[in-house]
Amino acid sequence: MDRQQEFVLRTVEERDIRFIRLWFTDVLGVLKSVAVAPAELEQAFVEGIGFDGSSIEGLTRVYEADMIAKPDPTTFQVLPWRGERHGTGRMFCDILTPDGSPSLADSRNVLKRTLAKASDKGFTFYTHPEVEFYLFNQVSSPDAPLVPVDTGGYFDHLARGSTHDFRRAAITMLESMGISVEFSHHEAGPGQNEIDLRYADALATADNLMTFRTVVKEVALEQGVFASFMPKPLANQPGSGMHTHMSLFEGDRNAFHEPGAQFELSKTARQFIAGLLVHAGEITAVTNQHVNSYKRLWGGAEAPSYICWGHNNRSALVRVPMYKPGKGNSSRVEYRALDSAANPYLAFAVLLAAGMKGIEEGYELPEATEDDVWELTDAERRALGISPLPESLDEAIELMESSELVAETLGEHVFDYVLRNKRNEWAAYRSQVTPYELQTSLQFL
Ligand code: GLU
Ligand code: MG
Ligand code: MG
Repeated sequence: MDRQQEFVLRTVEERDIRFIRLWFTDVLGVLKSVAVAPAELEQAFVEGIGFDGSSIEGLTRVYEADMIAKPDPTTFQVLPWRGERHGTGRMFCDILTPDGSPSLADSRNVLKRTLAKASDKGFTFYTHPEVEFYLFNQVSSPDAPLVPVDTGGYFDHLARGSTHDFRRAAITMLESMGISVEFSHHEAGPGQNEIDLRYADALATADNLMTFRTVVKEVALEQGVFASFMPKPLANQPGSGMHTHMSLFEGDRNAFHEPGAQFELSKTARQFIAGLLVHAGEITAVTNQHVNSYKRLWGGAEAPSYICWGHNNRSALVRVPMYKPGKGNSSRVEYRALDSAANPYLAFAVLLAAGMKGIEEGYELPEATEDDVWELTDAERRALGISPLPESLDEAIELMESSELVAETLGEHVFDYVLRNKRNEWAAYRSQVTPYELQTSLQFL
């Protein structure tokens, strides 16, 4: 028993915790949970808890169904929405095979492996996501029209607005679970909100995002509304993105910062951005994993559609935010394609791998784009060497299929599973006859 494990056992006893939920994430980014009694905890730390992996998306093939969830004691927190008395705690788990080795199907492990590779080169990877989501009045069926909880817009301060209470409750809950929030505000769409998490190492951020989604859904339920992280729930309103700010540190030093250089960006940062741009197309099926994701990317409203970078250019895929003189450690790059429905472990892994490839291979960064790229013609964009992101899940799958970088980063098992799952999603979507087709064709053809 190490010190962290002992600390958890002591806390469970002192706080009279009655259930401990063991959390892990399936390949599609869905949170899974199994509750154990405090008496089982010591055993769980030593051997893990066995479960049937064949019932979980992407975990195993049926003939190797036994899997083990081993709790990570550094992630122990008490769930505030389960009450103080006889409370419930939770820990994130690593997934192991019965022989105790890390499961190749565990997305948390995919990220850990990718972080370890960067660490071998001396880098720690930090991320800070801006999570957007909508709040709707509760609906009785998916066919009922969606009604946002308010009609506010960007940064609106609504007098007695229900979303103030919502954000306050959600942030209080997050902070009580050790997750720091930097900003929060009303976003541009009606009922749309944004909460930005403070930067942390990428594994902690990915765990925090899984907690974040659960907390936001819980608080919404408590307040009689429902929250959705769907990338584009309303055709004529902005989608929900998850712009992610990234930086690499070498010890205490931000490796992206170089005083006096253009935008104070070091060579390492320039190569990292170049890696993101070169590999953007092939990682998009991971960063934007649903049919609906592409409706956001191609639906305007400040979602990126073209592969380019710029300083403070909100039409660019990669943006270098305004730097603050004397605050070198805040140097970072913002990747704007990611959406709030991605599996954060896999998404951070492919983003880091793309950036690291740029550093390893010494990629040259093209000129920054200062134009609004949506306003340019196709010919102008071509002349500037700016290509589009995939326009559909189908195109994104095709690019991912031939990507060595994604195959290597995800590992064969997850790579094959994601491709298979996404092909099925596309095939199911393609076979639909939509209300749009009926409205525009039925009477006229
Ligand atoms: N909602 C926009 C998107 O889908 C982003 C708006 C913003 O710049 O925060 O990416
Ligand atoms: Mg935003
Ligand atoms: Mg942003």
